Amino acid sequence: MATIGFIGLGNMGGPMAINLVKAGHQVKAFDLYKEALAPVVDAGATAAGSAAEAVSGAEIVISMLPAGRHVENLYVSGEHPLFDIISGDTLIIDSSTIEASTAKRLSEIGTGRGLQFIDAPVSGGVGGAKAGTLAFMVGGSKAQFEKAKPILEGMGKNIFHAGDHGAGQIAKACNNMLLAILMTGTCEALNMGVKNGLDPAVLSEIMKQSSGSNWALQVYNPYPGVMEGVPSSNDYQGGFQVNLMFKDLGLAMDLSQQSASPIPMGSQARALFSMHKAKGNGGLDFSSVLKLYQDENNA
Ligand code: NAD
Repeated sequence: MATIGFIGLGNMGGPMAINLVKAGHQVKAFDLYKEALAPVVDAGATAAGSAAEAVSGAEIVISMLPAGRHVENLYVSGEHPLFDIISGDTLIIDSSTIEASTAKRLSEIGTGRGLQFIDAPVSGGVGGAKAGTLAFMVGGSKAQFEKAKPILEGMGKNIFHAGDHGAGQIAKACNNMLLAILMTGTCEALNMGVKNGLDPAVLSEIMKQSSGSNWALQVYNPYPGVMEGVPSSNDYQGGFQVNLMFKDLGLAMDLSQQSASPIPMGSQARALFSMHKAKGNGGLDFSSVLKLYQDENNA
């Protein structure tokens, strides 16, 4: 069992840290937002007063922050950069979804200073984080992957070695672009069915058992009241924020630009999330993009 410093206890990081405690690891946890610490400490983690305190003596450091600038700030450019105090024996696993280029650069800076930094973004949503069934997409050397795997198995069920540093983030950008396309498409179909008199639960079940089936229909139905325990049945609170999906679609745009890969569907999905965000919905779960299709009175 390992001593783990865990930084970022939001919608995803909180349940991930709790699963590490359940797996028998010693977890020292930190979040800038004090309230986020409570459930993790209740589960048996130790509260750290700063990121530096969380990583002190840790064999493994895991970060789960919103975006690249937060990760860069934490490790290299902030007031107390963790790269200044972490030792070369410690494996740093960043599970945030960030630019592949930033992940690669941080690993290079780390290597230059005798440190080990790998990218390991996740898929599976808050439900997967709570159930410990996340998919991890790891970018790093084979040896680093082998060292990270038993730790990641405490939080996930499918642990993939995507390739060298940054490869995990490339896989994640591809996956989330596809997810955005599937979610907007699912909303489009559901809204059309309902506007033509169908019950959203009946239509959802038909499509789930038919060729239109996808992850949104299976475990994350965007239509309120169709599925229990998902953000759409909780006023789109919790889950995966529109702001974060918008960020991820920006990461896909960057990759497309750098590699001249055409992404007309991804661009369209980004335009839809961009409009939805501009209407003040950035803090809602991303399945709320259904609202964009609905009439003002939801009729
Ligand atoms: P969140 O906003 O709920 O949590 C982020 C947490 O990081 C917050 O609690 C915030 O206070 C904390 N934080 C920010 N800067 C910090 C710092 N310097 N030190 C300590 N704590 C700091 O976000 P989330 O939904 O948990 O997502 C985290 C990452 O995982 C994002 O990159 C997101 O794109 C990705 N992701 C999210 C989901 C999902 O379904 N929510 C799924 C897969 C991947």
